[in-house]
Amino acid sequence: EENILEVRNLNVSFRVRGSEIEAIHDISLDLKKHETLAIVGESGSGKSVLIKTFTGMLEQNGRISHGTVSYKNQRLNELKTNKQWDKIRGKEIATIFQDPMTSLDPIHTIGSQISEVIIKHQGKSKKEAKKLAIELMERTGIPNAAQRYNEYPFEYSGGMRQRIVIAIALACRPEILVCDEPTTALDVTIQAQILDLIKELQQEYHFTIIFITHDLGVVASIADRIAVMYSGKIVEIGTSEEIFYDSRHPYTWSLLSSLPQLAKKGEELKSIPGTPPSLYKKIVGDAFAPRNSYAMSVDFKADPPMFKVTDTHYAKTWLLDQRAPQVEKPEQILN
Ligand code: ATP
Ligand code: MG
Repeated sequence: EENILEVRNLNVSFRVRGSEIEAIHDISLDLKKHETLAIVGESGSGKSVLIKTFTGMLEQNGRISHGTVSYKNQRLNELKTNKQWDKIRGKEIATIFQDPMTSLDPIHTIGSQISEVIIKHQGKSKKEAKKLAIELMERTGIPNAAQRYNEYPFEYSGGMRQRIVIAIALACRPEILVCDEPTTALDVTIQAQILDLIKELQQEYHFTIIFITHDLGVVASIADRIAVMYSGKIVEIGTSEEIFYDSRHPYTWSLLSSLPQLAKKGEELKSIPGTPPSLYKKIVGDAFAPRNSYAMSVDFKADPPMFKVTDTHYAKTWLLDQRAPQVEKPEQILN
């Protein structure tokens, strides 16, 4: 499959109180058309910063300090004005966020917000737009859509609001749907329904998905490939099977063993000891070394390269160096 998005050697830095901190270091990534790529990592690992560079949403104090982001051979990192970004943002690459209220306007009805997008992006009349909006509401699982068209966001539940945000995103017919923890704020059953909805809609509308979460459990059912981020870097990437059954990075092992459904019976659920490194301190060696129970002396001296495991699977750990000792890795089970 062809690549729809290509990230090459990307660095992103922020200016904070006069000094420059780096939130993304040397990330390279391909997104294949029609695939679902999950990006997983702890809070602060740089997931949101990474995807903000795809839609020009970095805050004022942030910039791409190195590297390129290309969408269908167009260099997104060279876009500057909002006018240039308007051709991409929403239209080609749409993002849905954890809190649906960041995307909804509290003082306009749900229906008018969907219709407005349809009028703007599909050039329909007001009457046609209303009809299409109601269809889209039905399609995204809003019961009594015609009646609920005239309700306000506050009259909808959290799950229903997220369905509306999805409906609005789809009204622009994007090629890529970026989902930044869209289900994190919802309870477990609603979470599953929204995931199912996104998957169904992908079958129908054939968009490509980037799905961000800190919970590896959520992506098992949805992702074709998984990228694991730690401290602004991708530390392992592979197909879902490779990550769940044959992961090679100790950080991925910790993420797997902190999943309730993957922990062995009778074994305590493990949280990952320690905290991610501060962006304000210079890191020598592998950023994960202080929390890595498999760390060797080299981990504290040199940052490992990406080692190739298969054509689709890479991991950034010295354990894959020829000279590293064989380690007993924890058993990995996918249910
Ligand atoms: P979460 O799971 O909590 O959403 P995340 O992986 O999305 O975490 P990011 O929001 O991408 O994390 O942040 C990565 C790092 O960049 C964090 O240390 C954060 O504090 C820093 N950062 C993000 N935006 C800015 C900003 N505008 N100015 C300064 N630092 C920032
Ligand atoms: Mg985030």
